[in-house]
Amino acid sequence: MSNEQPRRTFAIISHPDAGKTTLTEKLLYLGGGIRSAGTVKGKKSGKFATSDWMEIEKQRGISVTSSVMQLIYKDVQINILDTPGHEDFSEDTYRTLTAVDTAVMVIDSVKGIEAQTLKLFKVCSMRGIPILTFINKLDREGKEPLELLAEIEDVLEMETYPMNWPIGMGKTLRGIYSIPDKKIEVYNESHEREIVPYEKQQVLQSFEKEKLEEDIMLLEEAGNEFTEEKVQNGQLTPVFFGSALSSFGVQSFLDNFVQLAAEPMPRKASGEWVSPNSNTFTGFIFKIQANMNPNHRDRIAFLRICSGKFERGMEVMLSRTGKKMRLSQSHSFFASERENVDTAMPGDIIGLYDSGVFQVGDTLVNGNEMLSYEEMPQFPPEKFAKIMAKNALKHKQYHKGISQLVQEGTIQLYKTPYFEDFIIGAVGELQFQVFEYRMKNEYNTDIEFQHFSYELARWVTKGEVTDKMLDNRKMLVNDQQGRPVILFENEFTLRFFQDKYPELELSTGWELL
Ligand code: GDP
Repeated sequence: MSNEQPRRTFAIISHPDAGKTTLTEKLLYLGGGIRSAGTVKGKKSGKFATSDWMEIEKQRGISVTSSVMQLIYKDVQINILDTPGHEDFSEDTYRTLTAVDTAVMVIDSVKGIEAQTLKLFKVCSMRGIPILTFINKLDREGKEPLELLAEIEDVLEMETYPMNWPIGMGKTLRGIYSIPDKKIEVYNESHEREIVPYEKQQVLQSFEKEKLEEDIMLLEEAGNEFTEEKVQNGQLTPVFFGSALSSFGVQSFLDNFVQLAAEPMPRKASGEWVSPNSNTFTGFIFKIQANMNPNHRDRIAFLRICSGKFERGMEVMLSRTGKKMRLSQSHSFFASERENVDTAMPGDIIGLYDSGVFQVGDTLVNGNEMLSYEEMPQFPPEKFAKIMAKNALKHKQYHKGISQLVQEGTIQLYKTPYFEDFIIGAVGELQFQVFEYRMKNEYNTDIEFQHFSYELARWVTKGEVTDKMLDNRKMLVNDQQGRPVILFENEFTLRFFQDKYPELELSTGWELL
């Protein structure tokens, strides 16, 4: 980790079960990853009892250590940031995407684009970073490849360019044809890698050849033009077909990944572009992981290095407060396990021991310039609950806890007009559980929850909401900046509302980010 090899930092965006873990394992294996294949996921999706915190702690411990993984391939250090899905889905998953330079979108060929992929895609597309697509599970009977490309183009509004093309699928899968170099990677039962030039191949029957040649001709005629520039600004996604489970097409994907993934780019801080080559060390905190064990209240702040070089023991300034601090021994790096790191480069992630001074979005600078990287956006919540302190006498602690946890980015806070009831919002259930637990353990306050069935939030960007527009299927709240937000039960109630009150302009919140 102390080397100065080029860096490529990415995260996988996918829906649970598309094959993120399997693909990660195979990539780590190919890169001689610090973690050997088969040990990435320390857990399976099963539900846990809310009270079973020891178990969550154990599980989260695992998810902490696998938050950042590395592999070296063709002399490039590849950093993989984990994007927790399943019941671990939270705002941290979104925030992680602000710390990567490239996203790899994994799509299940049977299911196509699913809900969580779409949400995560939006964050990447807003940032305009390259998105490489891996269409997985080619060994199963999936959708037609052309249909999958059309789906990406229609739903995500992004051009596609297949880098390889499947020959058959499921039981009839024969191989993939690499379009740029006209070679066939043959699919065989033993999963041995076998690549032959197309003109020398002897594995395809004539109808398979005909179909392939037809498809390729169609792609050449009707397909998009490939330019690296379009890939770099996220306008076009190179698409790779394969099967992570059979290690099929994975190495070809990785070969292309090191060519196409973005290097650490300049980022905007306080209105100016900071180059990764700048001598000044800068970075921002994109996630803070609290320890659930009451005996060890330490927290880990994840810092993405944007410029300069990190050296253990260096002095940095926290831009928000101007406070200086030394990043010494206790600041450890996350690889397969905690270990101290002596140096780290732009693109790397370091884990900083945090006694409570950091907030999500904080910038650290080695020097006196008070630079601040652009504010971390808040993401549209999908779960809501009204909260109260069980013991009204503890209101002081209650307010202090809420204010700090909201500031830290654990949960979002909304208030009802008039009565100013506290409504919390989150993108995943886990955030509620962490909030409840930390209120109890750090602020000694038991919280009572009244869970709502609202699932959609819409910011009112034009027009006035009147009492007669509201009923128990929707609710009006104000966000932290005092902006009106209506919570809806589902798409149906939302659409009905919009038809009835076309004078109101509603925004999903994404536009405000
Ligand atoms: P994640 O939830 O996205 O991390 O998905 P996993 O990697 O855990 O995979 C979900 C399930 O799909 C597991 O049972 C995998 O074995 C299976 N799977 C992953 N890749 C493939 C593939 O290429 N083909 C088939 N048939 N199954 C796969």
